[in-house]
Order: sequence, then structure tokens, then C-alpha cells
Amino acid sequence: MQGLSENTGWFPVVFRMEGERVLVVGGGNVAASKVQLLVSTGARVEVLSASLCSELERMVDKGTIHHFPQDTSAQDLQPRLAGCRLVYLATNDRDLNQALATLCKAENVPVCAVDDPAISTFITPALVTRGKVQVAISTGGAAPVLARRLRTMVERVLPEGLHRLADFMSTMRDELRQRIPDTSARRQLWEHFLDGEGARVALAGNTVEATRSLQELEEGNAARGEVWLVGAGPGNPDLLTLAALRFMQDADVILYDNLVGPEILNYVRRDAERVFVGKKRNRHTLPQEDINHELVRRAQAGQRVLRLKGGDPFIFGRGGEELETLVEAGVPFRIIPGISAANGCAAYAGIPLTHRDCAQACLFITGHARADGVLNLEWETIALKNQTVVIYMGLTMLSQLCAQLVKHGLPENWPVAVVEKGTLPEQRVCEGTLATLPALVAEQQIQSPALVIVGEVVRHRVISPGY
Ligand code: SAH
Repeated sequence: MQGLSENTGWFPVVFRMEGERVLVVGGGNVAASKVQLLVSTGARVEVLSASLCSELERMVDKGTIHHFPQDTSAQDLQPRLAGCRLVYLATNDRDLNQALATLCKAENVPVCAVDDPAISTFITPALVTRGKVQVAISTGGAAPVLARRLRTMVERVLPEGLHRLADFMSTMRDELRQRIPDTSARRQLWEHFLDGEGARVALAGNTVEATRSLQELEEGNAARGEVWLVGAGPGNPDLLTLAALRFMQDADVILYDNLVGPEILNYVRRDAERVFVGKKRNRHTLPQEDINHELVRRAQAGQRVLRLKGGDPFIFGRGGEELETLVEAGVPFRIIPGISAANGCAAYAGIPLTHRDCAQACLFITGHARADGVLNLEWETIALKNQTVVIYMGLTMLSQLCAQLVKHGLPENWPVAVVEKGTLPEQRVCEGTLATLPALVAEQQIQSPALVIVGEVVRHRVISPGY
């Protein structure tokens, strides 16, 4: 704990504020934001200021806070300090704040001058709150904007139902203390609980299952594994969902495809086992059936298995097949959607997928040929104007695809684009027509993964200046 050896001069404590008197000097927006926070603790908030901003006025009208419409000089503050738990100074007059802070210190009342840690005896951290759970972030008053940025980061990774989990643990605490008097045994049980399925169901508010899971752990016959089928998006980690990130941090083992690149794998828990089960065309690393059985086998052994898929697991991802095996084997699972290549590539290439003028529908099709090399598609419904056709796995058969579309009625100069490695920094977009694109793609040596977008929307492509 390197940080602990440094003298920061600040020490975090959490006060019980219910019913305590707090004085806020100042009536502007800065005061209002502190007042809101204080009111939420159940404190009795008194505001000292000649005038009030509308937010504070509203709170006075509702009787939420008490207002003393008077000058904010030291003489006016002095008689109000007795019995006061905290004082916030939020006037925009630094000299006045300084004088008031000196007075508070002389009277031994903790004082915080907003944005002026040098004259404060306490500071308020940036807070992330989930019910009773509070995460406080402080930079010792050095950089409040940085603290707020950190708060956003913490906000993103803390699961939504954390308050439910805390409530559940709180209700079980006394009971458990009686049944398991040994502190370290109790702590270990809770650690296991937090690592496992129990914590997840408690987060979701299912206290019955959570209680059952806790009991199982206590009786020593727990370890019920499960499988999480998670979409990792098209490649750029920015496009991972919060849920995907959480499961990636919780898994014991991860089975992933070749569409899941190192950029994404960086976000998986360091000590999770990694199993590559990707398929190269005509060179199967693991047949689908083996993957299905591997998922079942590992879950039945009690592991939390993350099946990470490129894009969305239910769009050309064979997610359905994997789940069928799990259902048959009675293995619990969760499905987390991902941003599919169509959405990701379209957005990062600036090509809208639908457009009021020219594309009222959008079709996702596969350009993957059967083993005999034939493309088995309903060309009549695909080769239509007024729609966009997105072709997954279309690179190898691009010439045939373009030729078939022309054969079934689309003009040779119909716009087409190919997006290579969409959403990643190496992304390339190649624009052409049904007649010209195959040659362009060959010339530019476009590689997989690549997505083909067919339709007039390609002409509506927008590129931001500076990118
Ligand atoms: N489940 C995935 C699709 C799997 S099929 C999804 O929802 O996106 C694999 C095909 O997806 C690739 O052949 C390619 O056509 C497309 N694809 C996936 N990621 C891509 C990317 N980053 N850029 C371009 N195409 C991509």
C-alpha cells in the first residue's frame, strides 16, 4: 500500500448526519449543489444568505431547508455556530470566506470553503452512491475536475443493483453471525458469496435465490457453474457494454473467437484461463459441437464460463446453437447483446443504414458459401432498391455477390462499400459500385474481417472534418 505512507494531511471519515445542524453560507448554485447533498443525508440544513437562487428558493418553499435572509458577515454567523456540526462557505467572496473560516476554526466547528481547501478543515469528496454503498473520491482538494472524471469512471463500473446486494448482505448479517461465530470463517463465506452466482442474483433483487445460494455455500455443496454468452462488439473496446465488461471481469475461463482481438482481451480478468476456439475458414480449430460440449463440461465443473463472441452473439454468431446444448444439459446461462458489425462499421464509416429518401429497410445477410461453393440466397428479395443490404462474411465471394445482384436487377453503378476492420484504428473503407468494387478490393488488398454495405446509403456517407 504505497500511498498510505505518504502524508496527505487528509483523513476520510463518514459522519452520521441525520438531524444534525449544518450551516451553508451563500445562496447561489454552488451552495445549492452542496445543500442537495446534505439534504439527502437527513441533516437539518440552514442557509444564510441575503438572496437565493431559484433551486434553493424552491427548497425553502417546500420546507426542505431553513433560510435566514441576512448578511453573511462574521458577526451574523457567530451566533448561529453553537451546536452546528458542519459549516459550508459558498459565497463568491474569498476574503469573506477567509474571515468566516477563521471564525469557525476559533469556535471549533469544522468548516469547508468550497473550492478553497487551503482554508478548509474538511472537504467533501466526489461521491458515487448506490443506496447505502458510497464510493468517495478525493484529490485532497487538489483537482476537483479530476475527481469528477474519476467518479464517472467508477460510476461506469459499479453495477446498477449494488444497493440490493448491500441490503441483502445487511439483512443476513446478524443471522450469519449467530450461526458462524468465527469471524474469519464468516468473512470467507461472504468472499465466496461475492465471487459467485449468489451475488449476481442479489444484484438483480432475487433474494430467494440469493439466500439459497448462501445456504449452499454454507453447507459446502455450492459451485454451480454457468455460462455467459456475451457479445464483445465489432472490435473497438469503447463499444463493449457495461454488462460485457462486468462479466469479463468475473469469469473463471473465457472461450473466444478470432473476431475477439487483443484490444478486447485486455479487459478480461488477468488470471482467467483463456481458450481460443476460433474458426478460420476451412480450418476449424474446434468444431462447433466440441465448443458446445466444452461449455457444458466446464460449467458442470463449477466454472463461470464466458463465451465471448464478436459483435452480437445472435447475429451470425451461432449463439442459438450453443444455448440449445446448455438448455439440454440444464446449465444456467445469461445472454448479453453486443453491437453488431453492421452497427459498428456503419457508424465508424459514416454510412447510415437506413435513410428516409432511399432505404426504408435494412437486410443483414451472410455471404458465406455452402461447402460446394454455392451462394444459397433469395436474390429476388435481396436485389431490391429502397433498401440497404449488409453482407457479413462477404469478402471471399464478393465478385459472385456483386454479379448476382446485377443479374437480379440492380444497376451496375449501384453503390457498394466495404469496411475493413471496422471501428478499429486500422479501419479502411473502400467505396465503389457493383461493377467496380471487386477489382478495387483486390487492388487495395482488403482483408477479413470486412463488411459489405450495398445501397444508395453509401452515397450519403458523411466524414467528420479532422478525421
Ligand atoms: N456476430 C458477429 C458476426 C459474426 S460473422 C456480429 O454481430 O458482428 C463474421 C463477420 O462479421 C465477418 O466476416 C465480417 O463480415 C463481419 N465483421 C465482424 N467484425 C467486423 C469488423 N470489425 N469489421 C468489419 N466486419 C466485421
